[in-house]
Amino acid sequence: MTMPAAVDLNAPARFGVTVREQVPLAAYTTMKVGGPAEYFAAVATVDQLIRLVRWARSIELPYYLLGGGSNVLISDAGLRGLVIYNRCRQVRIDEAPCCVYPQDDRPFVFAESGVSMAGLARRTVTAALTGLEWAVSLPGTVGGAVVNNAGAYGGEVKDNLFDAMVMDSNGDIEEVPAERLIYAYRTSVLKRQIPVRGGFGPVVLSANFRLAPGDAAEIAATAERNLQHRRRSQPVEPSLGSTFVNPPGDYAGRLIEAAGLKGAAVGGIQVSRQHANFFINPGGAGSASAADVVALIEHVQRTVEDRFGVRLSPEVQLVGEWPAGQRLA
Ligand SMILES: Cc1cc2nc3c(=O)[nH]c(=O)nc-3n(C[C@H](O)[C@H](O)[C@H](O)COP(=O)(O)OP(=O)(O)OC[C@H]3O[C@@H](n4cnc5c(N)ncnc54)[C@H](O)[C@@H]3O)c2cc1C
Repeated sequence: MTMPAAVDLNAPARFGVTVREQVPLAAYTTMKVGGPAEYFAAVATVDQLIRLVRWARSIELPYYLLGGGSNVLISDAGLRGLVIYNRCRQVRIDEAPCCVYPQDDRPFVFAESGVSMAGLARRTVTAALTGLEWAVSLPGTVGGAVVNNAGAYGGEVKDNLFDAMVMDSNGDIEEVPAERLIYAYRTSVLKRQIPVRGGFGPVVLSANFRLAPGDAAEIAATAERNLQHRRRSQPVEPSLGSTFVNPPGDYAGRLIEAAGLKGAAVGGIQVSRQHANFFINPGGAGSASAADVVALIEHVQRTVEDRFGVRLSPEVQLVGEWPAGQRLA
């Protein structure tokens, strides 16, 4: 990757954005590991997000979008280029039928991409709208969920997303209908275009969901059931959620547990005893490394493959600078 010779860090101040250098990223991820961003800037409005991406593109500075950091494992060497921390958090629920689509009177739920997905889901539950009850305790942002087709409890983003405002890899902004995002289990056409070392990938600016009005008590009860189930079944220690995608017809957690790997550890990272597909960092920031996580992933992959002939694929996304030849598949 070629980087620009000199970066004028003051230029984005014109639109209210401060760019800093060598900012540690561990605190911005739910696993609490990972090295620094070469350049780092937080954006609070979609206008700032667009202008910052355009500025980075104009000087050929590779960028990487960071939402809640709940699905990314950032290398200990960190990320070159500009990490954009997304804090664009406007939400609007339009109850009135939309004149553009008069044949469908379901309310629109508009959210900027830095909105907490769980916060958005709770707002829709309060508004007695059904469709996002599965997300009331999902970590991360709307942008991350749209990219990953996040899902739980039988629901996923693709079920209710109407369209997303996306700046594509050429820098053009377009309202993309959900069908064109080519959703599949925990992936989308956007995810496949995001470079792991930063680059000039697509950026989700905002999303429109369409949800149906429903019975307020029933919706609230479903959301509460999902919340309680997550509290009972998932560890509270820092983690990245499910480490591996479930192989067809089985569960990664079941295979890991059956291989006797609950509690297995490398450095400060452990396979959770509560949920074997979760790797946890009980000591928090400073007590483990991204290399520990990768070593444990590889150990678990090898052991499960030897035992059951199933190769587990990581759900977590490896980001940044990794030693040559390091490949997780
Ligand atoms: C405890 C725990 C439980 C979890 N449970 C679930 C679960 O039940 N179901 C599930 O699906 N996932 C789950 N996850 C994983 C994670 O919450 C989801 O994948 C989530 O949608 C990621 O969102 P994020 O904002 O944190 O994305 P990040 O981790 O910040 O980013 C993920 C990817 O999306 C890209 N990205 C983020 N925002 C944008 C944007 N605006 N434009 C373009 N690209 C963007 C990033 O560059 C990166 O490639 C869990 C994680 C944890 C820690």
